[in-house]
Parts: sequence; structure tokens; C-alpha cells
Amino acid sequence: MRCFDCIERGHDTVAVAVCMECGAALCSSHTTTVAHLPHRLAGMGRATSPAPTRRLLCRTCHRTHGAA
Ligand SMILES: [Zn+2]
Ligand SMILES: [Zn+2]
Repeated sequence: MRCFDCIERGHDTVAVAVCMECGAALCSSHTTTVAHLPHRLAGMGRATSPAPTRRLLCRTCHRTHGAA
């Protein structure tokens, strides 16, 4: 699979990840890693401290979602 963003720019780069939002294949330089804290409410109201998960986004989705 090739990086979608690179293909659009006329490059041919092997993809190493897939955007979790749009599903585009991405090379390492076009992949944005976002730490994501899952907001999971336990039924008994006990708040554990969840470990942040990793979200891989393309640059377009990263901009669109304004993820910090
Ligand atoms: Zn790329
Ligand atoms: Zn995307």
C-alpha cells in the first residue's frame, strides 16, 4: 500500500499506518500521532485513570479535528 498524501504529491512512498478517521494509508512522515484519553465512565462512578491510547491521523484529519 502507498501513502495517500504522497501519491497526491506525485511521490510513491510505502505506507506504514492508516488514518483512524478517513482510512487513508500514510507514510511515517504524514502520520500524526495523537495521545487520546478515553472518556469511559464506569457504571459505579469510580473514575480510574485510564492510560492514554494512541490515535494515528493523517494531517488533514489532524487539522480538521484540531486535536491538541
Ligand atoms: Zn506520505
Ligand atoms: Zn485522515
